[in-house]
Amino acid sequence: MTDNQAECPKCGCTQITANKKGFSLGNAALGGILLGPVGLLGGFVDSNIVKATCLKCGYSWRPGNLSAMDKYYQQERERKEKLSEELKNIHERASEELKKIHERARKKLKQK
Ligand SMILES: [Zn+2]
Repeated sequence: MTDNQAECPKCGCTQITANKKGFSLGNAALGGILLGPVGLLGGFVDSNIVKATCLKCGYSWRPGNLSAMDKYYQQERERKEKLSEELKNIHERASEELKKIHERARKKLKQK
């Protein structure tokens, strides 16, 4: 499977509850299986799982049958992750520059 459905399309959290067929929503506590990242590998291949719910943000979706909305959320999240990664790099470079400037300034002060 190429789609990464083991994580919430909206927030990327891997703390997911999966509801299998035959369990009503009212029985979600009984029917919900808490899956860790390891259990998720095999878990979502199971076609009986009709609905997955994120424990972090509460978003629910159908694994193996992502809607346009799910995909939109997924893309948005990936875009944001990329952006924050770039921002982090810029920030790191900037603070590195600042350190050098401070270092130079300190040396100058010592020479006086
Ligand atoms: Zn989520």
